[in-house]
Amino acid sequence: LVVLRDVNKHFGDLHVLKDVNLTVGRGEVVILIGPSGSGKSTLCRTINRLETFESGSITIDGKELPEEGKELAALRADVGMVFQSFNLFAHKTILENVTLGPTKVRGMRKAEADRRAMELLERVGVGHQAHKYPAQLSGGQQQRVAIARSLAMDPKVMLFDEPTSALDPEMITEVLDVMVELARSGMTMIVVTHEMGFARKAANRVVFLSDGQVVEEATPEEFFTNPRSERAKDFLGKIL
Ligand code: ATP
Ligand code: MG
Repeated sequence: LVVLRDVNKHFGDLHVLKDVNLTVGRGEVVILIGPSGSGKSTLCRTINRLETFESGSITIDGKELPEEGKELAALRADVGMVFQSFNLFAHKTILENVTLGPTKVRGMRKAEADRRAMELLERVGVGHQAHKYPAQLSGGQQQRVAIARSLAMDPKVMLFDEPTSALDPEMITEVLDVMVELARSGMTMIVVTHEMGFARKAANRVVFLSDGQVVEEATPEEFFTNPRSERAKDFLGKIL
């Protein structure tokens, strides 16, 4: 579903992505893991075309992402993204946050968008908060709204960039539970996280990135118990 071939990207002199090859099949859940500065966020942003790249190709469902314009907006809507900071619109209600994309980008009618948004908000466990504003919700609740907002666009793939790292410990589980449920429902997911519990429960594959390169790919079990590369061993030694 998502195919990267020999993707290279620089920030000035800094070579951040080096010949990155990655294939994520439909329904697959892939964890991206690696040291700070290894290029995980850049890789996510490049897949979504929030960043440009110099060489190589990225296709979603067989289609190259166009550089700009209407087509990009449409294809980008196929790629949901959830960040560390929830980025909800502060002056809009929870419900409005979720219906905005479908009505503005997908051209969905308001009644239909409301109905669908309520279903999604129920699914992530914040249905009763629909008419509140983001600041009235906890961090964990806001992040679940951010997930519902992405899902409202009916994405083909969901990217998560450290979705729980800004949360207090007691709120991490509620967000991870939603993500595990999403994974089990068959969503294709690329997740940057160090949460090993999530990796073990929901991931098909772990991709270890170091210094802009894919150094190792393995099942979660293999990766966490028996990493092959020195760099992965070194990294796991620090986070475990
Ligand atoms: P972390 O675990 O800390 O989030 P990361 O793996 O997500 O790290 P990136 O944010 O992708 O790493 O950054 C990769 C490298 O690119 C880093 O050296 C970073 O300083 C650099 N970088 C990221 N964004 C920019 C930018 N907009 N301009 C210049 N350099 C950047
Ligand atoms: Mg990052």
